[in-house]
Amino acid sequence: MKIEAKSFVYSFSKNHKPIAHVKAGDTVDIDALDAFANQLRNEGDKIDSLDWDKVNAATGPIFIEGAEDGDILKVKINKITLDNKGTVLAGENFGLLGHLLKGSHVKIVHIKDGFAEFSDSLKLPLNPMIGVIGVAPEGEDINTGTPGKHGGNMDNLMVNEGAVLYFQVKTSGALFSLGDIHAVMGDGEIGVSGLEIPATVNVTFDIIKNKKIEHPILENEEFVTVIASALTSDEAAEIAVEEMFKLLSGKISLSDPEIAMLMSLVGQLQICQMVDPLKTVRFVMRKEHLNGLGVLELL
Ligand code: CA
Repeated sequence: MKIEAKSFVYSFSKNHKPIAHVKAGDTVDIDALDAFANQLRNEGDKIDSLDWDKVNAATGPIFIEGAEDGDILKVKINKITLDNKGTVLAGENFGLLGHLLKGSHVKIVHIKDGFAEFSDSLKLPLNPMIGVIGVAPEGEDINTGTPGKHGGNMDNLMVNEGAVLYFQVKTSGALFSLGDIHAVMGDGEIGVSGLEIPATVNVTFDIIKNKKIEHPILENEEFVTVIASALTSDEAAEIAVEEMFKLLSGKISLSDPEIAMLMSLVGQLQICQMVDPLKTVRFVMRKEHLNGLGVLELL
């Protein structure tokens, strides 16, 4: 099934009408605009002309049949097919360096042969990844610029090809949406944008019945990670560490103090982004340190 980038949401909400229905096990191609809703696509395009009301459009929501409150939605990112050019911006009041910059600046970066051509001499390896991805939250609507327990604008560079994400379902059908694809982005996204790019994302949905998680979990072949967002990166870090500990406690062949020791010795606390309304952090463990267990065995 192909879901075209024709219907967008600007919030995650249990009240949005689904644009498509899929079943557990279905694989779907989802088209996404870039985070600027494709408004800055050419050299010379100015931020002043940007309609900020259209920023962070996410394609969706998609209704996953059989997903109910109390289940977990599992989303495997199979493939991210990028357009041939992306957009990055920097400037006054944007991100962590905005106070040191004057004016606002847009750069178009072409994608060629697996690299983003930042300049004639500087070609950056691609890491296609999804900035905004999640399900309808439990309570009030959450705009697509903000991350949280529902996922949303997590801007986590590990949400790339091969990643499997787990979200707690809070409403019938889960109401999944995604957008804000990046061709490449650094941890922190310190300038407020990645290399923003239209893309087609191929995902497979599954449902895990009657399991509970508090925050999104991500795994890939090598790692298990917990993702947490909070007002400050300190708070987000504390949540991510605690959630990882709870995930492992009683599930691997170590006592709780030993789990704390192991997390202290080989766990990796990493910043996803520092520029959105809530900050996002992930805590990462290698599966080889967890008796080889994946998320499904740890839940
Ligand atoms: Ca973003």
